[in-house]
Amino acid sequence: MLDQFRRNIEYVRISVTDLCNLRCRYCMPEYGVRKIRHEDVLSYEEILRVVRALAGLGIRKVRLTGGEPLVRGGIADLVRAVKAVPGIEQVAMTTNGVLLSPMAKDLKEAGLDSVNMSLDALSEDVFAFLARRPLLSWAKKGLEALLAAGFAEVKVNCVPIAGVNEDEILRLAELARQEEIKVRFIELMPIGCAFRAGFRGVPMAEVKERLAREYGTLLSVSQGSGIHGPAEYFRVPGFRGQVGFIDAMEHKFCSSCNRVRLTAEGFLKLCLHAGTGLDVRALLRGGADDGQLREALSRAIHRKPAEHFFLEEGGAGLRDERYMYQVGG
Ligand code: SAM
Ligand code: SF4
Repeated sequence: MLDQFRRNIEYVRISVTDLCNLRCRYCMPEYGVRKIRHEDVLSYEEILRVVRALAGLGIRKVRLTGGEPLVRGGIADLVRAVKAVPGIEQVAMTTNGVLLSPMAKDLKEAGLDSVNMSLDALSEDVFAFLARRPLLSWAKKGLEALLAAGFAEVKVNCVPIAGVNEDEILRLAELARQEEIKVRFIELMPIGCAFRAGFRGVPMAEVKERLAREYGTLLSVSQGSGIHGPAEYFRVPGFRGQVGFIDAMEHKFCSSCNRVRLTAEGFLKLCLHAGTGLDVRALLRGGADDGQLREALSRAIHRKPAEHFFLEEGGAGLRDERYMYQVGG
């Protein structure tokens, strides 16, 4: 469906849990995490009702995220059920990969189309520092299983942070040498823990420059338009895969933003940055019928804000106070 600025909204990112088996410093606090009560989290049946309503409004792609989506039991069943909803063409997942090794095959068989695996370091000590858990070997096994399972598209996402994992940039890019995967670098957004910790993301221009210094000219790959996200992709001489960059801070993608987000508690967020949206859980549990649900979703999506305001003076006042693990990235 079109929103008030005539953007075609066709993608929903659904957080299935706010629980996580890592505690990445820029995403989730180590202590004092306020757990959502079990009964406040949307059930799979409720998520499916929302997906059916959204599919009726033109949503074609669903991404399951978290917290860590693989810690929620029966996630492959949810994938299968979402994939079966008429109108849903693509089901994707964003995961830290730690639990992926025993699950990758089942997820593929359930109909999962693509996986984005977040991996910020390939050195044990940097991974353990950043994720606050020494689980790099699990994540590596997860990535191997992902590649073996035969997914059409695998992306590895890294958030480079100044003085923390900068030296991992080249190591991670090397993953795309032998494998036909996309290794993407994503600029740190100054929200939640990242904002409070004072972390500074490495600007994408600098990441590109480092890669170009090592590998020579990067060749731009056109992605076409449509459901694709805001990444810019490049070929590196001698690599089977590609490298990509997402520079959401300096280059606003808001004018072509095609997505909305549903939190684990059932709040429809219209923009990653803003707190405005719709309490879908209240509708679901308040007895709204399918027509009323669809109407309310349609009205909310129509009001999607024009753009984020990370960099604007005073933007902090309008910032959503949710942490990233509560929103799903
Ligand atoms: N646990 C899963 C994972 O890590 O892939 C899914 C949820 S996590 C919130 C989704 C993505 O958000 C991860 O790739 C993570 O790196 C990214 N993320 C978290 N905080 C961020 C921030 N402040 N800026 C940019 N990306 C962030
Ligand atoms: Fe967990 Fe993902 Fe956040 Fe790391 S980035 S703490 S893995 S939700």
